[in-house]
Order: sequence, then C-alpha cells, then structure tokens
Amino acid sequence: MSPEATAEELIGLFPPGTRTDGDGMLTIGGCRLDDVADRFGTPAIVVSEDALRQRARDYLTAFRSRWPRCDVAFASKSFPCTAVQRVMVEEGLNLDVAGGGEILTALKAGADPARLVLHGNAKSDEELTLAVDRGVGLVVVDNFDDIDRLERIVPTGRQQPCLVRVIPGVEAATHASQATGHAGSKFGLMPDDARTAIARIDRSAKLRLDGVHTHVGSQLLDVGQLAQAVEPIAKLGTFDTYDLGGGLGVRYTYDEHPPTLDAYADAMVAQAKALLPEHSRIIVEPGRSMVAGSACTLYRVTTVKRGVVTHVAVDGGMGDNLEVSLTGQRFEATIADRVGGGETVSVVGRHCESGDQLVDGVALRDPSVGDLLAVPVTGAYCYTMSNQYNGARRVPVVFVSDGAARLVVRRDTWDDLLMRDVD
Ligand SMILES: *Cc1c(COP(=O)(O)O)cnc(C)c1O
Repeated sequence: MSPEATAEELIGLFPPGTRTDGDGMLTIGGCRLDDVADRFGTPAIVVSEDALRQRARDYLTAFRSRWPRCDVAFASKSFPCTAVQRVMVEEGLNLDVAGGGEILTALKAGADPARLVLHGNAKSDEELTLAVDRGVGLVVVDNFDDIDRLERIVPTGRQQPCLVRVIPGVEAATHASQATGHAGSKFGLMPDDARTAIARIDRSAKLRLDGVHTHVGSQLLDVGQLAQAVEPIAKLGTFDTYDLGGGLGVRYTYDEHPPTLDAYADAMVAQAKALLPEHSRIIVEPGRSMVAGSACTLYRVTTVKRGVVTHVAVDGGMGDNLEVSLTGQRFEATIADRVGGGETVSVVGRHCESGDQLVDGVALRDPSVGDLLAVPVTGAYCYTMSNQYNGARRVPVVFVSDGAARLVVRRDTWDDLLMRDVD
C-alpha cells in the first residue's frame, strides 16, 4: 500500500462487500479471512461468488442494453476452473476457450458446446478434432493451416462455423507480453491475408464463414484503443458476426484508473453503430475485467528479515502469481487484520528467484511471522498460471458467499507432485 492510501481505499480494491470485523479482520462474502485460512490453509485464492455473478450480469446488461444482438463470451483462460466457468454459464454467458483442455473444463461446467468459441494460434489436429466432434459453435481461424486441418477433419456433409482472426494493427499501450494487435503479432492474419482466408472459407463445403474476430491486447486502460478494434474488421466486409475481443483493464493499484464498464460499452457500441451492419451480432470476450476484482490471495507470513530492505516472506509467490514477473503488474497487499499504513517493506515469495517478489514497496502495519497477508485483485491469470516450481503444491480456490465458504479446487497433495514420475 502506498503510504498515502487509507484503509478505505485499500478495502476498495477487494471484492464489493468486503469489510472488517470488530477486531479488524477482513471479511469477504461474510467469511473472516482467518477462518478461511484455518480451514483451507494458505496460500489460497478466495473468490466472492456474489461479486463474480454480479460482474457477469453487469457485463451482459451493459452490452445488451446498447446492442441487443450481443453475446458476452467469458475468456476462460483468465480463470479456467469448472466452478468459475459454471457461474458464467449459469449467468447466461458464452465461453471463449483456448485449446482442448478448456473445451473439456467448459463442457464439465455444463456449457452448451454451441456457445463455445475456440481460439489458438497453434491448434493441433487433436484439438480441432475434439472441437468438431463436440460441436463447438465457433472455431476462430488464426492461419491457413487451420483451414487445411478443418477441411481434413470436418466430416463430409457437415459445416463448421468459423470466424477469421484479423490483426487490427493497433499498438496497445500495455506490457509487450499483453499486446496482441500490432503488425508483428503471432495471433491472426493481416487484413490482406484475412481476405484470402475469407475467400477460401467461402469456397469450402466444410467450413461456414460467420464473421471476423480481433483482439487488441490485455489490461488496456484507454477505451479509445479498445474501440480501435472495430474499424479494421468492419473494413473487411459485411458478415453476420463481429467478435471484438477482450482486453479491458482493471484496477490493481490506487493510481490505475481503468474505464468503467459503461464507458467501455459506450465506446465499443458507438464504433459498432458507426461501422457495422445494423443487425449483425457482436461478441465481446472479457477475461481479466470479468474476474480479477472478485478474488484475493491469502498467504501466511513465514519470515520477516530486516536489513537494507525489510523482506516479508510468505508461503506462496510465483507458484501462484506469475503476473508480477511476467508482465511487471503491481499489486497491493495488507496484513489481513491490520489494514492500512505502517512500515514500507518488500513482500517476497518462497521460490528460488530474486524476481519472485509479490509487491515491492508496500506499507504493512507491524508485519510479523504467522500473520495472514491478503493480496487483492488476483482473480485473473493467477490460478491459471499456477505451477509446481520448487515443489509448490498448486493453490486451492475457495468460494465465499453469505457467510459460507466452500472449496471448488483443492490444493495439490504431495502425492500429486509425485504422480506423473513414472520411472
Ligand atoms: C486473452 C484473450 C481475451 C481476454 O483478454 P482479457 O484481457 O483477459 O480481457 C479475449 N480474447 C482473446 C482472443 C484472447 O486471447
């Protein structure tokens, strides 16, 4: 926490409904974080189910009220566990899946295969066969090899609906690993190649062209840049479906001010109204902005080492949060029962890398061994990239709502760590 931030501002980064109990302990979804930690251990990702559901509803309302023929497809890769995908399905969303594994978790979550959108810049025969066999609604063609493969895989007499992914040529102001819309991107085809792909699909008996897709990047804080996705695909012609991708940024820190959902929907739909056919379907694919703010990660402080820098080390780190080392994203943190102000420290993880830092320069009040530390805004891209580096057991996911906590993904066991070593 930057020194000037108040306890109220810090609580504002946690899911809506977060408060402190009489003794100062943070309470999410009516559950005290110390109770959650005692019951499920640490580290653990704690999700407010109500916040998650509300966000899904808000997204649908924001877009459908402005453009009735709009589908919101949750970008599963940002939090691809069955329980989260099931919430999205129950709230009426479609699911965007990247690869075969996410098709399987989506189906296990009860998704209608016809409402899945399959992405991938390197789809294998196995994945495309799975998609075609299971009846995935839209396959997003990223390259000419996808067309060759589908022509081999789709059975005679059937047609697989497709979108063609187009590079929008937008230099997004975000971390290099999160920019996908620039001319050199590995995702999609430049407009001239996209035209060739569209012509090939139009001629194919086994493929049906429903429309075009684009995605500018992730953690974008400027609606203008997000809305630039529309023009390059509008120029390619008249189609039934225009998929505008995801990418809306979220508030991780006090000085980030992402656009509101309404401002985002306003900007996208204004462009759609100006440039797209009136009765076409638009799809948006939010990932990060759908799930990030509904969760936090709980850690136990294992060591406080005071030297040139005060290092507060916790029992997790890059095993459960790669965003810091991958994209340089800054997070905030607090001791769970002493919210606000204090000594500026560096919160580090337990892994054998100096880059395994959770938050550099955050003010914690009297950090001590055994304290619970809570890091807000960890709902996106944390669980999904959790790993077993240094023999870490991957983190559990706990849903909290109305004073009840339930485990939806269990922690790895020690046996899980050994299970795949067959010799
Ligand atoms: C990752 C991705 C998304 C979601 O991006 P967010 O920044 O998480 O909203 C949407 N569409 C595609 C094709 C993606 O690759």
